[in-house]
Amino acid sequence: MNIFVLFFLFFTAESFNFNNSKCYLKNKSSLINMNLKNLRDKNGLPKFSLFKYNTIEDDTKLIINDLKKDFKKLEEKMENTKSNFYEISIYEREKIFYPIEFYWGVISHLTSVKNNNELRTAHENVMPEVIKIGNDLSQSKILYNCLKKASKENLNSIQKRIIKKELKGMELNGVNLEDNKKEEFREISLRLANLSNKYRNNVLDSVNNYKMIIKDDKNMLKMPEYSLELYSEKAKTEGFKSTPKKGPWVVTLDGPSLYSFMTKYPESDKRKDLYKASIKRASEKKYDNTELVYEILKLNQKLSELLGYKNYVDISLSQKMATESKIYKLLNKISKKSKKKGIEDYEEIKSYFGLKDLNSWDVAYYSEKLKEDKFEFKEEDVKPYLVYENVLEGLFKLSKKIFDISIVEVNTDKEKIDLWNEDVKYFRVYDGSDSKNEIASFYLDPYIRPGEKKGGAWMDDCVGKSKYLNNKPVAYLTLNGTPPLNGKPSLMTFSDVETLFHEFGHGLQHMLTEVDESAAAGINNIEWDAVELPSQFMENWCYHKKTLMSFAKHYQTNKTMPDDLYNKIMSQKTFHKANQINRQIYFSMIDLYVYQNDIDDIYNVQKKISDKYLAYPIDKEDRFLCSFEHIFSGGYSAGYYSYKWAEIMSLDAFSVFENVEDDKELKNLGMKFRKTILAKGGGTDPLKVYKEFMGREPNSDAFMKHYGLI
Ligand code: ZN
Repeated sequence: MNIFVLFFLFFTAESFNFNNSKCYLKNKSSLINMNLKNLRDKNGLPKFSLFKYNTIEDDTKLIINDLKKDFKKLEEKMENTKSNFYEISIYEREKIFYPIEFYWGVISHLTSVKNNNELRTAHENVMPEVIKIGNDLSQSKILYNCLKKASKENLNSIQKRIIKKELKGMELNGVNLEDNKKEEFREISLRLANLSNKYRNNVLDSVNNYKMIIKDDKNMLKMPEYSLELYSEKAKTEGFKSTPKKGPWVVTLDGPSLYSFMTKYPESDKRKDLYKASIKRASEKKYDNTELVYEILKLNQKLSELLGYKNYVDISLSQKMATESKIYKLLNKISKKSKKKGIEDYEEIKSYFGLKDLNSWDVAYYSEKLKEDKFEFKEEDVKPYLVYENVLEGLFKLSKKIFDISIVEVNTDKEKIDLWNEDVKYFRVYDGSDSKNEIASFYLDPYIRPGEKKGGAWMDDCVGKSKYLNNKPVAYLTLNGTPPLNGKPSLMTFSDVETLFHEFGHGLQHMLTEVDESAAAGINNIEWDAVELPSQFMENWCYHKKTLMSFAKHYQTNKTMPDDLYNKIMSQKTFHKANQINRQIYFSMIDLYVYQNDIDDIYNVQKKISDKYLAYPIDKEDRFLCSFEHIFSGGYSAGYYSYKWAEIMSLDAFSVFENVEDDKELKNLGMKFRKTILAKGGGTDPLKVYKEFMGREPNSDAFMKHYGLI
């Protein structure tokens, strides 16, 4: 999410990753003789190749200096005006923020997809200044007063909501504090940003520091091909001469490596070693995060009191859709059923394999094995049917069918559209079938690029919709799929396909917004716990038979996926998921607890809450709170519950589509979804929008049914 698009709403310390290193003026800015306009093409898209890494620091400083001057002039105007408060404080501010928003947006994007040491250093060096200017401006009393006056003008409901959120954001940034308290607030914010950065680096470094090197091990050959490829690739980067079949192999603690090993490696002792290392991440020696956790919690409490709140949970929930009582009620209701189901699943494994005890490091392995036995299903069997290009085409056809949009790939060579990598594609989105009515566009960056591209997948905004700046929305969709290898096309796992649909769902909300006030268009201004609704909603379509069968064709024979395989996918999709739900509830509860209570022993808290919500006890050495990045260095502090909250809404919303066979009826429903949830963005209260689509408030029935908890 681009920080400046959100104006001041997210200028709280925990949202940022920045390094407190000093800034030096090293290079002449490339912008001194160059207008920012030159960095955009005729379509308004960034010319990525013109962003020179060695001038980033100076370019950014130059833009910030201009912003400071422009903001000062704007403040004078705000003080002297007798009318047009909204226009000045929102639209004119949007205009002067645009250069930094555009420039810094591209730089941030490049750090994620085209990173190298030069870029990283420049980014880290200048980041504190970007944060500082954001913080300083969000504490402008003149702007705050102007927004207050604007709130009394004759505004529409979207504008009213923007003003309300802007004021709230500034209040939470300490705009109303006395000068000495303001200073204290800034110090705490800065310290928190440092702590959160240190916390993240400790996790990263402790993960990077762990390697399990495996040589001459016959057990490895019982693992799937793609796992061996992964471990052999890792071994090569560690300087070994390795092949997938012969090794040596290097197993690490990052997600795909850990998951694959814990579910597929057949011998318990090595699983135990890896498991123990994973639960102790960032809890030992120089990477120990324990003290950081205490300090982060203490400072957040101090910050909350400074702002007149009881604790950080109150601050967090004051900006969310959910209320405290609703969260507890909902999670406890689910937990009552899912804990029982989790215990049953656990017992099922024990009795099936005749085990007296079941060790924590053996659960995933046996559960996976039981799944394979019971459903005769292997993830690997699905892959040959999921060719990236076909999946994409299927997704676009679905979008046409339910949302009435046409998506067309652009010939970037012919149109001279700049890309950051040759695998990236650029698409235009049209309303209906009208090739004159372009409403948005997006970049799609599909494949893994170790070394320069971050792992995971995400949607980010490149350009936001704005009436004032006459901009159409442009999105970045970034995935990390397998590139075409050895003459094979790019084949996706089922979960890769879900990820593509997920990010595309975020993209749809950004691109199909009908709000043209930039501050509330697309995903801007949407409550954090509602933002995952369209993305998780789209995931459900991967299991929709007609949709899946429309693109699942074998890469060699072009035969559609057999019914039998489809049925297996369906029957195993929620197999043994209760313990995953239990874990997420445990995370949500611990997150709320630590931000609400005085803690003197975090491990004690971990034990107490896990006993209550998990089906089996955690390991004595479990130091999970030392690597819970979401709540100590991500934006999820006192908000982790958002995942479940949005999932419940997405399944509830999808339930009305589920059994509809008739295409016309599907389109009616799809258009209703488009015109409410996708179109109204952050301009309307999310509960109101939801009710407009569903005709009622969300409930957890579909969720409970989906996971077999009724
Ligand atoms: Zn998401």
